Amino acid sequence: MTTRPFVHVDGVTKRFGAAVALDSCGLDVAEGETLVLLGPSGCGKTTLLRIIAGLETPDQGTITVDGELLSSANRAVRPERRRIGMVFQDAALFGHMSVAANVGYGLSRADVRAGRVAEALAMVDLSHLAHRRPHELSGGQAQRVALARALAPRPRILLFDEPFTGLDTTLRLRVRAEIVDLLQRVGVTSIFVTHDQEEAFVLGDRIAVMRDGQIRQVGTPAALYARPVDPWVAEFVGEANLLPATSAAGSAATVLGPVPVETSLFGHSRVLVRPEHIRVSPGGDAMVTSVDFYGHDCSYAVRAGGCVVRVRAAGAPEVHVGDQVSLAYHGPRTTGYAAAAPGDAPRVDSPAMRLVTARS
Ligand code: ATP
Repeated sequence: MTTRPFVHVDGVTKRFGAAVALDSCGLDVAEGETLVLLGPSGCGKTTLLRIIAGLETPDQGTITVDGELLSSANRAVRPERRRIGMVFQDAALFGHMSVAANVGYGLSRADVRAGRVAEALAMVDLSHLAHRRPHELSGGQAQRVALARALAPRPRILLFDEPFTGLDTTLRLRVRAEIVDLLQRVGVTSIFVTHDQEEAFVLGDRIAVMRDGQIRQVGTPAALYARPVDPWVAEFVGEANLLPATSAAGSAATVLGPVPVETSLFGHSRVLVRPEHIRVSPGGDAMVTSVDFYGHDCSYAVRAGGCVVRVRAAGAPEVHVGDQVSLAYHGPRTTGYAAAAPGDAPRVDSPAMRLVTARS
């Protein structure tokens, strides 16, 4: 990030008793950017969001927004003074109040007089429902009212904590698309928390992948997918084959044959091969052990040289369980990782060769 970050999280650590929820986290978010905190349950996402909002105090580290220091060892700006809006998992609307009253809740009289309620409802396209009660709304509409309530005070940042979790699948996709569209139109800086990789990829300009209280990697969805920093991130952001290999001079010898890799990769390694970058052809030494058809594409498990390799192919299955096939790589130059310990990567032709797959 070349310009000054709008949100700057520096060295934030948070313990709950003996448990370290956040371990020296650093993060920059640009103005107008949508950043997603992605990680498994318990990795510290919500704690980081709450610290940015001022609902938790860090043990160490600082939070700065638009050049203003909000949290440090001896400074804590109160949450209501931070000009940060939050949208939670459930819309948490007051049932006895109208939509307009919910959106206006917490606004100063001057803000209400200035028409902030109507402005926020117009932004989420709900002006026509201003007089309804929450029980008269669909789940998606209720979540948009919650967003309007967060937008009404014109916050500097919007924080979203798993905002789509309570919605069923179809609604979830629709509301998510609406919110992406709205955030682009409004241009407000946003931070989302999710444990769902697909959601993170759809929402995020950039994603910060978290594990065990640490930020492991920050990047665009495309960069994370193509160049994960370690095998764990590789498997967390998509289906991954980590093929034992011997690498030299930008090429890795694998069960798929040669795979182009970064020239820095050398010796025994594990090479990242995404399943959609493998081509299956009839005839050969490998054998199909399972086939799953999803409609838009299909997935094969193929036993090859002692490995089980996951393959994705467009359309309906063209090979079947028990078929003899051959595999070839047809993707871009990929990345890889040093084998866990010297000598632990078996030779490529070894029957002991094992493949680690994620989400198989
Ligand atoms: P999830 O996706 O399940 O919501 P998360 O990534 O948001 O998880 P956090 O809620 O930030 O994770 O929790 C991080 C760690 O801190 C967890 O081990 C959790 O049990 C612990 N933790 C969070 N809040 C508290 C608290 N108030 N008291 C004690 N431990 C807490």
